[in-house]
Amino acid sequence: MAAPYEFRTVCPRDCYDTCTLLVQLDASGQIKSVRGDPEHPVTRGITCPRAAKDMVRLVTNRVKHPYLRDTAQDELHQISWEEALELLTARLENTIEEHGKESVLLLDYFGNTGLLTLHFPQRLWNVLGATRTDHALCAKSGRDAISLHYGSDYGVQPDDLLHMHMIIFWGFNAVVSAPHIWDMALEARDRNGTSIVAIDPRRTRTAKEADRWIPLRPSTDAPLALSLANYLIQTDKIDHEFIKTYTAGYERFAEEVSHWSLTRASSICGPDERVIRELGDLYADRKPGATMIGVGMQKHLQGAESTRAVALLPALVGIHRGFFYSNESGFKIDTGYLSGRHQLANDWKTVSQVDLAPLIQRGEFKFIFVYNMNPALTIPNQIPLREGLFRDDVFVVVHDTHWTETTDFADLVLPACTYLEKDDITIAWAHRYTMASRNVVPPLGESRDEIWLMRQIAEHLKLDDDLLFENPWSAVKIAMKESLRGASFDDLMGGNCVELEYLPLNYYPTPSGRLEFYSTQTDNLGLSPTPQYSSLSIDSKEFILLNSAMTRYSHTQFQEVFGPIPATVRINPRDAKERNILSGDTVILSNERGQIRMQTQLAESIPPGVLWVPRQGADLDGRPTNSITLSIPQVLGGGSTFNSTVVRIEESET
Ligand code: SF4
Repeated sequence: MAAPYEFRTVCPRDCYDTCTLLVQLDASGQIKSVRGDPEHPVTRGITCPRAAKDMVRLVTNRVKHPYLRDTAQDELHQISWEEALELLTARLENTIEEHGKESVLLLDYFGNTGLLTLHFPQRLWNVLGATRTDHALCAKSGRDAISLHYGSDYGVQPDDLLHMHMIIFWGFNAVVSAPHIWDMALEARDRNGTSIVAIDPRRTRTAKEADRWIPLRPSTDAPLALSLANYLIQTDKIDHEFIKTYTAGYERFAEEVSHWSLTRASSICGPDERVIRELGDLYADRKPGATMIGVGMQKHLQGAESTRAVALLPALVGIHRGFFYSNESGFKIDTGYLSGRHQLANDWKTVSQVDLAPLIQRGEFKFIFVYNMNPALTIPNQIPLREGLFRDDVFVVVHDTHWTETTDFADLVLPACTYLEKDDITIAWAHRYTMASRNVVPPLGESRDEIWLMRQIAEHLKLDDDLLFENPWSAVKIAMKESLRGASFDDLMGGNCVELEYLPLNYYPTPSGRLEFYSTQTDNLGLSPTPQYSSLSIDSKEFILLNSAMTRYSHTQFQEVFGPIPATVRINPRDAKERNILSGDTVILSNERGQIRMQTQLAESIPPGVLWVPRQGADLDGRPTNSITLSIPQVLGGGSTFNSTVVRIEESET
C-alpha cells in the first residue's frame, strides 16, 4: 500500500523499463522522494539514479514562462502566453501562405513517451499538413529488419526471462540501459542456473557481470550470427519439426549461410572458432533461451543486416520469437487513431531525421516546431543543423520543460509540464503492464501541457476540426479498445496497474503467414532476401568511434542534475601508448565533418582500434559530439549510423 501523500505514477522516458514510481509528498505538497514501486512486476522496487533525482530535476533549470528572442540583441525576453500564441500563430499562418504547408516542420521525438504527450498533440500538425520526420534516429532500422522475417518485431517479455535457461545480451548493456530487465536476468540465474552471455566489442558493465563475455569487432555481428546459424545447421542442432511447421525459405537460407564457416567468421569478428562453437552449443542446449538485441547494436551501416541475422537464430533451434528488441508492435494500441493519421488523408511529407541537417541548413523549413526532443545535441551532423537553426528566415519554436541546447536556437520558448505535472498513460517498449498516471504536483510557473497548447494554437488559427477538440481520454479509450486484458478502461482510469493484450509469439504477419528465413519483402528495398555482410574499410591511423548511454542520463536529460555529459573519450592503453597519449590528455577527434576536443581516459574495456564517447554530449568547448558522427541513413528503415563513424585522434595543443 502506498503511504499517505504517496502517489503512483509512471516514468515515461525513452527507456526500456517504463517503471512505476512511488512519489512521496510532504504536508506542504513538496516532493520528498521518488522510488521504484515494489509491487510492480517489472520495477520490483528498484530505483534508477535518474528517478531518484527527479524531485531535483523538477525544479532545476526549468522553463517557467514563455520567452521571445530579441534578434537584434540575441536575448530572450519574457512575454505572456497570449503574446506568444499570437506571435506563433501569425508566423505560422504567414509561413503556410508564403511557402506552403510543407515548409512547416514538426521536429519531435520520444523525450516523454506518454500517449497524450507523444501521439495526441500530433493531430494539430497532421491537420495542418506539416512536414514530419521519420523518427528513425534510434530503433527503426532494427524494427524493420526483424519485420522482414517475422512480419513484426515484438518478442519475449521481460518477465519471461525468469524462465529462461540462457540469456544473451547482444550489443545490449542492460546494467546501464535496462536495470530492471537485468535484475530479472540475475534472478533467472539464481533460480535456474541460467547462463548469461554478453556479446559486445566493449567490456561493458553487463559484460563484466555476465557468465561469459564474447568480444567482437564493431559491426561484425552479422558474420558471427551467420556462422552460428551455419554451425547449428551443420551439426544438426536445429529443430526440424519447428522449421517445417512454422517457417518458409529455410533451404535457401541454409544454402546462403553455408558460406559462413567458423574460420571465416573468426577472422572477421575476432573470437576463436572454439568460442563460436561453444556459443552455438549453448544456444542449442540451454533452452529456452532469449537473445536480447540492443538498439545500439544496429546503429551502424550494417545495423539492419546484423539485426536480421541475430534475430533468426532462435528460430533455428525451435523458439518462437526468442528475441527481445522492442515489443510495442505486440500491443494492440491504435496510435494512428490518437495522432489522427487514420482519420486524415496521409499526404504529408516525411523527411529523414538522420539526414535532416542539410535540409535545415538549406532553409527548406521556415517554421520549425520542436517538442519532446533536444535536436541541437541529438541529431548527427550538428554543424549544418545549427547553421540552419540560426538562419534569419527560419522561425524556431521550442516547447520544453527545461532549458536545453535547442532553446539556445529558439525564437520562441514555451514552458512545458514534466510528467509529474500532468495526466497521461505510458505504454512500455518492453513489458505489458500499464497504468494511468495523474499529475502529482501543480505545473511550475506558467508551464502548460501539449494538448492545451495544441488547442490554443488551433483556436487562434480558427481551426474547428473535431479531431483537435475530441476529449483526449475518449480518444485513448478508443485507441485502447482491444488492448486491455481482463480489465476495463474504468479499471485503468481508477489507478490500477493492468495487463495489456499481447500478440501470440507464434503469430507471423508476413506475406506467407510464416516466419520467413528467406524474406519475400525485400524486392523493392534493394536488399537480399537473407542477411548479408559487407565490411567497413578504415586505414591503420583511423579509429571507429562508438557511443552509448551513461547511467545517469536519459539521452540529454538530467544534465541539469548531474552536470554536463562528460567530454571524455576512452581509448585502449595500447593505442594510447603508441601515440604517447596519457590519461587526462586533451585530444582532438576529427574527420571530414569537423572536430571535437575531448579529455582521454585509458580503458582496457575499449578494444584496440576503437574509441568510445558518451552518447549525445558536448566537447570541452561545448561543441556537440554529434558534430562528427556519421549522418548516412541505413538502407533499411533510414536508421542512424553513429557507430560507423571513423575518426583520427591527435594531441591537442591547447
Ligand atoms: S529512467 Fe528508465 S529505469 Fe529510470 S525510472 Fe524511468 S523507466 Fe525506470
